[in-house]
Amino acid sequence: MEKTKQLYEGKAKKVYATENPDYVIVSYKDDATAFNGLKKGTIIGKGVINNKMSNLMMAMLEKKGIPTHLVEQIDDRNTVVKKVEIVPLEVIIRNVAAGSFSKRYGVAEGTKFSAPTIEFSYKNDDLGDPLINDYHALALNLATAEEIDTIKKMAFAVNAAMKAFFKELNIDLIDFKLEFGRFKGQIVLADEISPDTCRFWEAGTWDTTKHVSLDKDRFRRDLGGVEDAYAEIFKRITESK
Ligand code: UDP
Repeated sequence: MEKTKQLYEGKAKKVYATENPDYVIVSYKDDATAFNGLKKGTIIGKGVINNKMSNLMMAMLEKKGIPTHLVEQIDDRNTVVKKVEIVPLEVIIRNVAAGSFSKRYGVAEGTKFSAPTIEFSYKNDDLGDPLINDYHALALNLATAEEIDTIKKMAFAVNAAMKAFFKELNIDLIDFKLEFGRFKGQIVLADEISPDTCRFWEAGTWDTTKHVSLDKDRFRRDLGGVEDAYAEIFKRITESK
């Protein structure tokens, strides 16, 4: 499938139209941003890793019965996906306190929850993606009650599948962000699943010592070894297959 014209350029990806109106091509860049675009940089090779990793995760989830946007990978950086209408919600699932949760609620990073938790942000850069609840989402007409119900069920199912998958790789899935889209009346998992959108901590030691991040926190927090962390996650995924 060929790109016809560019439809959109985001922070980490470009989206192109194709000759098929149902499909677009997503092209992953090495550009990295954090803090709503305030921090900018490049993570060399990130686009290739995020493209391939996201596709592997989506394929794994499809096998578990979760519908996704994935159609087919074209090459290292480009993938054909269903042209969805994105539901303007960032859906965050957390297993362990970290990042904004720790800050907002005054809970130490690394505090395990007895059960996974979910939160929604309204996807709106001008407003800084504010935290909202289901009723706000309904009031703002971001999704229907039925769609919100489907999204919640799918998000927890994704968590269960991914947590088990990464446990095998000696990695703890701390939290992650999902986005969903509408395709021919159905809610499907869209966007990406990568070290840009998940927190991955080296398993085993972090409840007694400081955790080792294998994700974008290495960029956000200037921890160094950013490229190596992305490469390490990808290596473990591919070696496990
Ligand atoms: N996240 C994301 N995009 C965002 C905000 C968060 O992919 O715009 C991911 C982030 O990588 C982490 C999870 O969602 O895995 C929870 O992030 P958090 O709310 O703690 O925000 P942060 O501390 O990253 O600002």
